[in-house]
Amino acid sequence: MVQAVVGANWGDEGKGKITDMLAENADIIVRFQGGANAGHTIVNNYGKFALHTLPSGVFYDHTTSIIGNGVALNIPVLFNEIKSITDKNVPMPKILVSDRAQMVMPYHILFDQYEEERLAGKSFGSTKSGIAPFYSDKYAKIGFQVSELFDEEALREKIERVIVQKNILLEHLYHKPLIDADETFNTLMEYKKMVEPYVCDVSAFLWDAIKEGKNILLEGQLGSLKDPDHGIYPMVTSSSTLAAYGAIGAGIPPYEIKKIVTVVKAYSSAVGAGAFVSEIFGDEADELRKRGGDGGEYGATTGRPRRMGWFDCVATKYGCRIQGTTDVAFTVLDVLGYLDEIPVCVGYEIDGEVTTDFPTTSKLEKAKPVLKTLPGWKEDIRGIKEYDKLPENCRKYIEFIEEQIGFPITMVSNGPKREDIIIRKK
Ligand code: GDP
Repeated sequence: MVQAVVGANWGDEGKGKITDMLAENADIIVRFQGGANAGHTIVNNYGKFALHTLPSGVFYDHTTSIIGNGVALNIPVLFNEIKSITDKNVPMPKILVSDRAQMVMPYHILFDQYEEERLAGKSFGSTKSGIAPFYSDKYAKIGFQVSELFDEEALREKIERVIVQKNILLEHLYHKPLIDADETFNTLMEYKKMVEPYVCDVSAFLWDAIKEGKNILLEGQLGSLKDPDHGIYPMVTSSSTLAAYGAIGAGIPPYEIKKIVTVVKAYSSAVGAGAFVSEIFGDEADELRKRGGDGGEYGATTGRPRRMGWFDCVATKYGCRIQGTTDVAFTVLDVLGYLDEIPVCVGYEIDGEVTTDFPTTSKLEKAKPVLKTLPGWKEDIRGIKEYDKLPENCRKYIEFIEEQIGFPITMVSNGPKREDIIIRKK
């Protein structure tokens, strides 16, 4: 069976933890989109890890970890990540990389930085991992697939062709040093050595695995609201964050995705620019940021403080719908135990009218939150294993949100560890 684990919001919902937990019963875990621009944080017996490229299944020895064709593959990052986990005594994971995955080129990272510099105050808040230039090139058909590393003559010729236009931009738009074809070729030959042992025809591998009845997890990065089509365009990422894209980014039939576990955090956080209707500021935000996640809400890749907000029912209802949610995993609920009262955003007021439908970006920018305040439970809920043992106000909070978003909350996460999970019998 194929299941997807995806986010309903702006990312950082705790997908890494949920994937790591579900990976116990999985044979294969596949990354199908995104690159090293975001990270998952996983806490387990080996320690605490921030993964940017490897799927969250690498800590189990019974799983195969796959980088699908939809990923922006940064080969040096992948290899440093493998090293960083094996250095901490995690057994060498089984890793496969799609021969159709495209590579983040050194100049993609530079172009990302140069463009942010050029835009200055009007920038998108990119993590400068080269993701936007990478996907631009992919769809402009001047990207480089892993498979191209194995035809050196054709590769050399293509590099020369592609860097002509890159160098025009470098010289005239950015006024930066030009790219050298030989140097680029040599770098790619280094990449080839690093990636060669893992390269395979991933979609053929998964086709066989599906036929054999294997359990496959598709691991999404970021969340619905960062999807380039359905998110808060243009403050989005450059590859689709939706479960549906899992079929393309892994190379499997869409009808095989039977379960879509959408991860939803008990409050909101976001990184980068863009409208964030339920955002809070000042001491209120600082307190939640400090207590949030596991050790505070700071970016896994950049370390920058995340923007904080109350739970947003409008954005989450939409985010779950657009994912095609079958199950909601509701995470980081333990963090809210300090609050006497918990505001929740239940509607958006736009031009004097209240709506619960998530609007397009220009209207979103005008939206003001309609808040409803629920009573807190003022208790530490970590360690609780059964739903009925949760404090009454805590259950009421969950059930209120479930009703507002209209999708079943079947898992409640009350701590960062694998075992901090309450499976709700429905
Ligand atoms: P992802 O990108 O969606 O995997 O999210 P991140 O890993 O960036 O952010 C989730 C953070 O919350 C990490 O630091 C996790 O260890 C932590 N976390 C996940 N689930 C829980 C939970 O239920 N409670 C607490 N306190 N922390 C959690």
